[in-house]
Amino acid sequence: MNKHIPFLDLHRQYASIKPGIDKAIQGVLKRQMFILGEELDKFEKDYADYLNIRSVVGVNSGTDGLILALRALGIGKGDEVITQTNSFIATAIAISEVGATPVLVDIDPNTYEMDVDMVKKKITKKTKAILPVHLYGAPAPIEDLVELAKAKGLFLIEDACQAHGATYKNKKLGTFGDVSVYSFYPGKNLGAYGDAGAIATQDSKIADKLIKLRNYGMTKKYYHDTIGYNSRLDEIQAAVLRTKLKKLDQWNKKRNAIAKQYITLLPHIKKQTILPDGTSNYHLFVIEIPTRDKLQAYLKTHGIDTLIHYPVPIHLQACYKDLGYKKGDMPHAEKSSERLLSLPMYPELRAVEVAYITECITRY
Ligand SMILES: *Cc1c(COP(=O)(O)O)cnc(C)c1O
Repeated sequence: MNKHIPFLDLHRQYASIKPGIDKAIQGVLKRQMFILGEELDKFEKDYADYLNIRSVVGVNSGTDGLILALRALGIGKGDEVITQTNSFIATAIAISEVGATPVLVDIDPNTYEMDVDMVKKKITKKTKAILPVHLYGAPAPIEDLVELAKAKGLFLIEDACQAHGATYKNKKLGTFGDVSVYSFYPGKNLGAYGDAGAIATQDSKIADKLIKLRNYGMTKKYYHDTIGYNSRLDEIQAAVLRTKLKKLDQWNKKRNAIAKQYITLLPHIKKQTILPDGTSNYHLFVIEIPTRDKLQAYLKTHGIDTLIHYPVPIHLQACYKDLGYKKGDMPHAEKSSERLLSLPMYPELRAVEVAYITECITRY
């Protein structure tokens, strides 16, 4: 067994799919068509079928996906969008980028997902949308949020950037809201070989807007009725993603088996609670421990890499000091930021490696 267990090892995955990937990339090189071509068309259809949703629009990244989704819904200056403070910064940045204000809420201390009661308290006349994150690949309390958004006349945007293939009541995460956004950053469960992202929607009018926005706001060549973006999912990435999509369910199953092994071997350690009717794709496997920093250092000396998702909640980030939040505003997220630790998790992680990791944690 390796003395060093990296947090994520993409070499192993590539080794397992090399012929298919190489052929897919060669196909694009043969055609010499790199932007908005047939690979993207096919991937968008394949991913829409996979999700069981009407439209998927490929864009340059998950962050761009969130920005374009907000723009397509007409959200901008003077508007408020409610999201959670424990997420990757991109969720909030997208809201700021369109000129709106991110309004942050705390998380449930057991699921680490959005606290719906706090969302209710933060709704004002300016609120236009709720933007939950399916954190770590497990479902946000999506039924309650759908109901709340409907009752208050708000848009619901799902940040499904970590949630490819996970479900709630047998329905894929990212198919509950008005729009949802996926990232295909290389480390995600479905990862490109570069930056890529997509937006999914049941609403063909929104899809049409997104198709325009991602391509300079163009109606026909060199005619622009909207100030748009350059944000396309390129052909090489689409070819890679189409090849990998065929493996996604199999990979998510392996991640679930690894999670099961972790859970069995670490019976006394607190872990994320998954909603009873939901499934996780285990994008991350996160444990909670009071002496987190010491455990992380201990594992490091034993060759095991771990990460923290996330060490600073968004409301305490330096870039958001103007929003006026202070320490103590979001006690659950603040506490978890000091205690959460993400263990190595990828489909190719071996059972002996998981056993070694858990043995080290137990010994610690
Ligand atoms: C990865 C991620 C993003 C951003 O995706 P990029 O493709 O890196 O721009 C946004 N939100 C969440 C929750 C993510 O995990």
